[in-house]
Amino acid sequence: MTAPTQATAMTPCAPTHTPEVDIDALRAKYLLERDKRVRPEGQQQYVEAADEFAGFYESDPHLPVEPREPITDDIEVVVLGGGFCGLIAAHRLQQAGVTDFKIVELGGDFGGVWYWNRYPGIQIDSDAYCYLPLLEETGYMPKERFSHGDECFEHAQRIGKHFGFYDNAIFHTLIRSLEWDEEINRWQIRTNRGDEIRARFVVMAQGPYNRPKLPGIPGITDFKGHTFHTARWDYDYTGGDLHGGLDKIADKRIAVIGTGSSGIQAIPHLAKGAKHLTVFQRTPSYIFERANYPTDPQWVNSLEPGWRAARQRNFHNAAFAFYSPGEPDLICDGWTEVSRNMAAKLTETNGWAALADPVKFMELKEVEDYRSMERLRRRIEEIVDDSDTAELLKPYYRNMCKRPVFNDDYLPTFNRPNVTLIDVSETKGVERITEKGVMVDGVELEFDAIVFASGFEITTALDRQFDIAPFAGRDGTSLYDHWGKGFRTLHGVMAHGFPNHFATGFVQGGVTASTTLMFEQQADHIAYIIKEAQARGATHVEPTAAAEEGWIQTIRAHSIDNSTFTSECTPGYYNSEGEPNGRSFLGDPFWGGFYELGEILQTWRDTGTLEGLKLDV
Ligand code: NAP
Repeated sequence: MTAPTQATAMTPCAPTHTPEVDIDALRAKYLLERDKRVRPEGQQQYVEAADEFAGFYESDPHLPVEPREPITDDIEVVVLGGGFCGLIAAHRLQQAGVTDFKIVELGGDFGGVWYWNRYPGIQIDSDAYCYLPLLEETGYMPKERFSHGDECFEHAQRIGKHFGFYDNAIFHTLIRSLEWDEEINRWQIRTNRGDEIRARFVVMAQGPYNRPKLPGIPGITDFKGHTFHTARWDYDYTGGDLHGGLDKIADKRIAVIGTGSSGIQAIPHLAKGAKHLTVFQRTPSYIFERANYPTDPQWVNSLEPGWRAARQRNFHNAAFAFYSPGEPDLICDGWTEVSRNMAAKLTETNGWAALADPVKFMELKEVEDYRSMERLRRRIEEIVDDSDTAELLKPYYRNMCKRPVFNDDYLPTFNRPNVTLIDVSETKGVERITEKGVMVDGVELEFDAIVFASGFEITTALDRQFDIAPFAGRDGTSLYDHWGKGFRTLHGVMAHGFPNHFATGFVQGGVTASTTLMFEQQADHIAYIIKEAQARGATHVEPTAAAEEGWIQTIRAHSIDNSTFTSECTPGYYNSEGEPNGRSFLGDPFWGGFYELGEILQTWRDTGTLEGLKLDV
């Protein structure tokens, strides 16, 4: 099976060679594997990082929290979150001339996920030239096409410095409650530092992957050894840094629970450092070649203004739309393999006309999907020596049932003598944790430490995801109630009953291949509304109930039914753990198209009437 061979961004991208498959047999196998893993508790199987587990979220292993006096302040705009989303929001506010804002961030610096997640091996899993925001504005070009975690964190700091946002930052501060105060037309904000901040506008930029969750394994509190979550890596315990070299665990028996994007990247380094590593796997990830390359100066010199937007659009076409005939695959990685291979077949067979029929389109895509997954399964056989282990590592589900993973070191790790893979699919997860370790088939395996690579509150209930209470709009209405039966917004950014409040992320907006591009679209809209509200002397601005309902109807009119696909997927946060009516992690998006949504929003702004918004002056 050949891998993508793009050596630089200038090298044309070839399709991969994929084997013939028996789709019916595989479909049956996929369903079997799915059923084995679905748990009746769905999302409830996870434990919240609160109360006795709060430290897994709130404590900062990277920087000591300095004591400070509580802040009492009245600010025009508070941006909640200083990751890329918050930084983009701040940038767009600044561009719009709105400068009285503060960015409140739990971390001790900018960076969000890239501040928190410093586990060994952390690296971007999608094209850095598309993903890293504000490249042209800061004059920066990523060193490689898949940046390492420290480069992403440094880029967040670069943005903070370049635009002077450090003066606007309140770090090491967690917003605990948000309440709209009708008397003073302000949001009352309380934090974990005893702050009482009033803000006219609040922009939520918390990001979708901000709050770690833990597996609800019976006995999880019994373990007397060391534990930590990948998103709060404890280098005091392991030694080393995010490039590896974990030199303090040479005498330690380590268990890792979780084999998603985080686990896959950390496991090779844990294996190199530990006396013994045991990997508990419920579902194997599907792992593409990393195929990283350094940024080619010749390519950089060849770039014309607008190159980045064109690249992002090309990525979007591969992931959420489709190429036009002759369009090259500029991204050339696992995200684009299925579309690339399909486009090559269409060209070979002169079959592009077939795409006019959406059913045919889905059929052709499905074939390439099955073939690509089979390629990845055979790749495992080629790399992993022990055939039983190789079999356990094979993913049996469709492309995009889970997030694709890119790694060259993970699979060879299972050829090491100090690494054991334990499949826990039959018990739908690790059976039990004990004082000394983990129970497997009635046998207690002893460990010095357990690393939880168990992911984040992404599609769990919104109050778990936000961890803000109360979160109350006009008349004390809870946002969790307002959105209890599904998102209700205008343009994905404002909700009726929540004046001067702005949402970002996967909330009835447009989806595209780079989340940062989605944030940019939302931040443009938010900054415009705030600027206009200020210019018109409005104390508050809010969508009417009718406008909100209108947007919901627009969303419905463009909705697509992908319930068969998601319900047949192996469980995970992509399909709300297989819950029948679970929330999509994409958040009820506008399926009319990301760029089409951009045009709708631009036209709305161009009319200048703020249609659907009620302003109180
Ligand atoms: P995740 O994808 O949610 O993975 C959690 C892992 O924990 C899964 O393997 C899950 O198994 C396992 N697990 C949960 N409960 C278990 C139990 N009771 N017993 C055994 N295993 C259990 O979390 P993640 O790896 O942190 O990744 C989350 C997301 O963050 C990614 O999808 C990605 O969007 C983002 N991320 C990105 C990067 C990057 O760009 N480089 C890196 C890391 C994370 P199941 O699969 O069976 O549920």
